[in-house]
Amino acid sequence: MTVLGETGETKGWVFNIQRYSTHDGPGIRTVVFLKGCPLHCFWCQNPESRSVKPVLMFKKDRCTRCGRCIAACPHQANSMVEGEVRIERSRCALCGACVAACLAGARDIQGKIMTVQEIMDVVAKDMAIYDNSGGGITLSGGDCEMQPGFSVALLRAAHEEGINTAVEITGAFAWQTVKMITDHADYVLFDLKVMDEERHKKGTGVSNALILENARNLVGEKKAILFRTPLIPGFNDSVEDIRAIARFVKYELGLNPAEHVRLLAYNNLGEEKYARMDYQGERPSYQRQSDAYIKELNESLAAV
Ligand code: SF4
Ligand code: SF4
Repeated sequence: MTVLGETGETKGWVFNIQRYSTHDGPGIRTVVFLKGCPLHCFWCQNPESRSVKPVLMFKKDRCTRCGRCIAACPHQANSMVEGEVRIERSRCALCGACVAACLAGARDIQGKIMTVQEIMDVVAKDMAIYDNSGGGITLSGGDCEMQPGFSVALLRAAHEEGINTAVEITGAFAWQTVKMITDHADYVLFDLKVMDEERHKKGTGVSNALILENARNLVGEKKAILFRTPLIPGFNDSVEDIRAIARFVKYELGLNPAEHVRLLAYNNLGEEKYARMDYQGERPSYQRQSDAYIKELNESLAAV
């Protein structure tokens, strides 16, 4: 979603800006996390990024049960039930009054409107670091393709300052949108989850047909590209799954899988966020793959 401000300045929804990243493209980078994602991966470690709208996070373990949020809320969305604070989210207007009232830091709202200039003011702080490391700005999310006009405006602004640009995308959009954004990116990080279409649908909520088509198109555009596969135990981390990805990259895209595919070991660092959003569903509980197994998968990738 792109919003034009009163001055004609382009604005968009952002939930985090992380400086000094070394995992999101070449060199040392500033990563801008945009709200909204077209996929609903069951393992998602950034659930606060899924909706373009902001989300109220509640850290129960920090709550002192002082009741200030109950008094502060103009919409009566908070109450004390059996000594615990409850949020009735359907009443919450995301006004932020309870966040300001909470002295324990138990509440925050993930997601705010920012202008291109506000973001560039942060990004420009590390110009010397980008120059020395070959880094720059990376748009991530969520998926920056959800806010295409804003993403293009940001990438253009970075290029105007001579800053290298990268995007992390799902590729689950019409080619016109993917091209519009990646035309302004020096480097593309592209998620490839699993080759089997039915499993892709089950795990992410969408087919991978369009994603694979966009991967072919991007390679045809001679984009510098790295495919990334988050390894989810029992879902896509078998040797055969990795070989299938390697075969696609090697034989359909004409690229060396060992150079152009990065396997990402499972992590569950975002698990507590589900509780902070009052998520009611079941959550899978997995262990990270062993280093020896990751090595074996990387060897399978290289052996195709
Ligand atoms: S963000 Fe505003 S509406 Fe929502 S619970 Fe807090 S005070 Fe109430
Ligand atoms: S204001 Fe903060 S600490 Fe106090 S009850 Fe509300 S969430 Fe808990």
